[in-house]
Amino acid sequence: MAGFKYKYSPLSYNTATKWAKNQLDPLYQNAVRNVQAQKYNNEMQAGTVAQARGLSHSGLAADQLTKIGIAAQSQIKDLNAQRNAQMAQMAQNLVQRNQDVNDRRRSQLFNEYMSQQQFNYQKSRANVADSQWNKQFNASRSDAKWQKEWQKYMYNHMSATEKAQLDWMKKQYGEYAAWRMYELNQTLKAQKEMYQTQIDGYSGFSSSSGGGWIPNARDGKYKISSGFGYRGRNGGENHGAVDIAVPRGTKLASTVSGTVVYSGWGKKGSGYGNYGNVVAIRTANGDIHLFAHMDGVGVKVGQRVNRGQFIGISGNTGDSDGPHLHYEVRRGGNINRRIDPTPWLR
Ligand SMILES: [Zn+2]
Repeated sequence: MAGFKYKYSPLSYNTATKWAKNQLDPLYQNAVRNVQAQKYNNEMQAGTVAQARGLSHSGLAADQLTKIGIAAQSQIKDLNAQRNAQMAQMAQNLVQRNQDVNDRRRSQLFNEYMSQQQFNYQKSRANVADSQWNKQFNASRSDAKWQKEWQKYMYNHMSATEKAQLDWMKKQYGEYAAWRMYELNQTLKAQKEMYQTQIDGYSGFSSSSGGGWIPNARDGKYKISSGFGYRGRNGGENHGAVDIAVPRGTKLASTVSGTVVYSGWGKKGSGYGNYGNVVAIRTANGDIHLFAHMDGVGVKVGQRVNRGQFIGISGNTGDSDGPHLHYEVRRGGNINRRIDPTPWLR
């Protein structure tokens, strides 16, 4: 399109990494302090026991202290490894999110540009031979409409404090920048919460991680926005899953017990492309239950999970037209044998 320009400098991986580091370091410093405190407690306890048995100066007591030291060291080493992995994942997500936001901004500007050009366009319509033009025009129109609806939905689902903050930012920085900041903040908040949960579970010093909402159809908490089977839109695509309108940042718990076979960004060709962040769990009978479009995952491949256990944070990633949970069951793990997941929504 001649005349239409949109330039932006993408968020670099390095900047995103620095940002992620600032978010994660305090959490990990805390976890390391906890490990050290626990080590100190263990040493004191071992000392007391040894003294009571008159073994204070024996090799046995020294052995015990060495073991405690080694255990703490390896815990700290593991924490560091986990921090690095999470930092990379967080940075990656931020870069991706930034790109998504800019893609949306670009189509919004494109739409505005097109509206300005509409009068001229209608006059010279007969002369426009490029059919691609029409397609792009319609696509950008539906994109902008989608964004408006999404923002309306988010606005109606946020707390009074969040609303006040957003309104204030709109006044200060304008509509677009305010929403952009809101989105980035939400992503950051969800990721921080998820990582805190993982650290808690890992270092065992807090039981705050808990579970989360087990998707179901009975508590009436969230609406089913699209059922299983024929969807009747977009030319009638067959929807092999259930969509539930769960707001972004909701802690999700597994509907089933099983083993995690996929966790993270659904890469093209993996069988989970377009699903965004996805967790797939294989049950004992070979079925795969998957939870898609999440903002972040909280489990690792190979991990055993129980029904009711925390698996990640709901979101709006991948090919998704608004915050929701896409819940799908594949019989025998076969993508071509998707069955109605309703029986597990109990
Ligand atoms: Zn779906």
